Amino acid sequence: CSGGGLLVYSDSSPSKRTLTADGQEIKKKKVVVLGSGWSGYSFLSHFNNPNYDVQVVSPRNFFLFTPLLPSVTNGTVEARSIVEPIRGLMRKKGFEYTEAECVKIDPSNKKIHCKSKDSTSLKGTTEFDMDYDILVVAVGAKPNTFNTPGVEEHAHFLKEADDALKIRRSVINCFERASLPDLTEEERKKILHFVVVGGGPTGVEFSAELHDFLVEDVAKIYPKVQEFTRITLLEAGDHILNMFDKRITAFAEEKVQRDGIDLKTKSMVVGVTADEISTKERGSGEVVSEPYGMVVWSTGIGSRPVIKDFMHQIGQGQRRVLATDEWLRVEGCDSVYALGDTATINQRRVMKGETGTLNKKEFKGVVKDICQRYPQVELYLKKKKLRNIANLLKSANGDNTELSIETFKQALSEVDTQMKNLPATAQVASQQGKYLAKCFNKMEKCEKKPEGPLRFRGEGRHRFQPFRYRHFGSFAPLGGEQTAAELPGDWVSIGHSSQWLWYSVYASKLVSWRTRSLVVSDWVRRFIFGRDSSS
Ligand code: FAD
Ligand code: MG
Ligand code: MG
Ligand code: MG
Ligand code: MG
Repeated sequence: CSGGGLLVYSDSSPSKRTLTADGQEIKKKKVVVLGSGWSGYSFLSHFNNPNYDVQVVSPRNFFLFTPLLPSVTNGTVEARSIVEPIRGLMRKKGFEYTEAECVKIDPSNKKIHCKSKDSTSLKGTTEFDMDYDILVVAVGAKPNTFNTPGVEEHAHFLKEADDALKIRRSVINCFERASLPDLTEEERKKILHFVVVGGGPTGVEFSAELHDFLVEDVAKIYPKVQEFTRITLLEAGDHILNMFDKRITAFAEEKVQRDGIDLKTKSMVVGVTADEISTKERGSGEVVSEPYGMVVWSTGIGSRPVIKDFMHQIGQGQRRVLATDEWLRVEGCDSVYALGDTATINQRRVMKGETGTLNKKEFKGVVKDICQRYPQVELYLKKKKLRNIANLLKSANGDNTELSIETFKQALSEVDTQMKNLPATAQVASQQGKYLAKCFNKMEKCEKKPEGPLRFRGEGRHRFQPFRYRHFGSFAPLGGEQTAAELPGDWVSIGHSSQWLWYSVYASKLVSWRTRSLVVSDWVRRFIFGRDSSS
């Protein structure tokens, strides 16, 4: 036992051993995977190499299909329908799972320190160490409060299944409280004032879902108080959904206003108390406080404490987000990989150290390479935002003139400043998980035949192609059975047809037939009977 009276044991069992056909003992390398979210689950489901011993550590024993989480808040979809227990996958693959949270990574001793909730021990927690040969960090991120006072205590987040259920109970609870007799009109208005902070996809979708719920269901269930409800959507920037195409932003802003949602842009929240939320108007600097019944905070993500501590240990303390190279290896330490929202890829400079000129073919090759790394560049090229590159491309198309690398570098610095990181999305996380699993699956082949086709041209020391992101498009559900879709090739579609596209894309992306059928039956049930409004 260690100080503090906590039970401490150490899982320092050596890596598992198996025998080969001729009786030789081989030591299996132990891969420890932290997290069972989009990137971790994707890694585990594609991992297929019997020469590794895989151990998963995650505080939750299920995968959560986050895109449908906002639908859980109003009962369109049941929480149970969008979680997939991971035990099934563990059994099928022969992996081991421990329900615990990693609280410290010790890269110099190749150990992690974990805590698990254990109701049988006195303190309610059990602590243990675990060795690894290879560590895959896929712990995601936590909601970012920007240290705004009162947010942690009074606001709801929308990140986990429990959050969605809490929000749902809280919404219904507000209506029940507002329906009590002997309240003044002011009091009812306060209780039924719902504030959503953050005009990103999650905040916009949540406000839209809440609006649908109020209009389609609550009006029938709580007819007396319905007139007192109000939804306010606060956004610090100039526009909501600012990462989407301008057409989508404009449509969404118009729809939000048409729905009667009170949209306030350029409003930064400076504090939340038990019954008031204070915002500062950008520009005038005026601070306004308003009473509220419920606040949902959705302003982006930040690093988890365990990752911040790890970054300090490996000399990344100055960075905001953990950095990996393009092979997803954490920079500044050995045998640790990081995927998904936890990390960003530190892109190599495309033109580093090169001088001279490029001919048409080389130029096109480089542009293609950039477009693969930064899928958004293609859109920018079309929109002529990167005018220099677009012009260079045009002149290169025309004849065989050689381009000076200096001119090109200059144009590229525009790319560097405008688009550094891949977005923190499920799409990126799951592709990274799949990519890394495939690298592990081919590891022996590559070690035996380092000159094989997998060798990356021009980078002798790497055996694998670097990670390449493929962008399949983004969806922004806007409520009222409408969804905006931005698909590759500058294709924008908004309306009811994209709602069905969205349904089918997500229904087909759900991990198992079990969850798929549960979600579809939830949708059908909702269409026929309306939403369930019990809390
Ligand atoms: P996560 O999926 O968050 O997984 C992290 C895992 O690590 C979890 O299992 C967690 O329990 C575990 N963990 C946490 N701490 C520890 C620890 N200390 N030790 C061990 N394990 C730990 N993206 C899209 O592309 N499309 C969408 O429509 C979309 N909608 C979204 C809607 C909502 C409401 C939210 C919150 C997100 C949405 N996203 C969407 C974003 C997407 O969910 C994330 O980008 C994605 O989950 C990132 O995957 P991840 O594996 O990095 O992290
Ligand atoms: Mg994960
Ligand atoms: Mg997840
Ligand atoms: Mg999560
Ligand atoms: Mg990332």
